[in-house]
Amino acid sequence: MGVRDDEIQRLIHYAKSMGVKVYIYSRSNPAGAAEWTLDGTTISVFAGPTNSKSDTILDLIHELGHHVWFVHEKDRQQDLKFEQAITRENLYQVETDVPTPKHLRKKIWNVEIAGTKYWDIIVKDTNIKIPTWKIEAAKEFDMWMYEMYYENGHFPKGKFKKNRRKEILAKHRPS
Ligand SMILES: [Zn+2]
Repeated sequence: MGVRDDEIQRLIHYAKSMGVKVYIYSRSNPAGAAEWTLDGTTISVFAGPTNSKSDTILDLIHELGHHVWFVHEKDRQQDLKFEQAITRENLYQVETDVPTPKHLRKKIWNVEIAGTKYWDIIVKDTNIKIPTWKIEAAKEFDMWMYEMYYENGHFPKGKFKKNRRKEILAKHRPS
């Protein structure tokens, strides 16, 4: 077991201590790399063959950010507007009729931003040794994805997404 495996285990224990079950699947999921359930019971990470252990760690930190927000800011009560937004978005993904309205996309983006406020605490609590600049780059990239989703009604893909990731990494990487 290497350093990254130990970090994954610590994140799983941390989640468990807050009542969250973590599932890590060795397959990718077209609907998203990871998810946290709105009732605060489960985190799933879809770690496909191209995912590194660091990717899994960053996904866990992202999802745990939502849960810590849920505990500290929502007192473990579901946010009804967020629930409405996610339900609408899930429906859109299977039925592809009318995109999720912009005010609900804004809600999703805001909840995403709120979750990132807890990343640094989670990283410290679980003693994650991934360099800070990589964590900052992941945070900026994830929030860019949701900002684009808010603006356009869908997530960036392909070259546009790949190039933006490269740019953000280059910006944060120490010279
Ligand atoms: Zn998220």
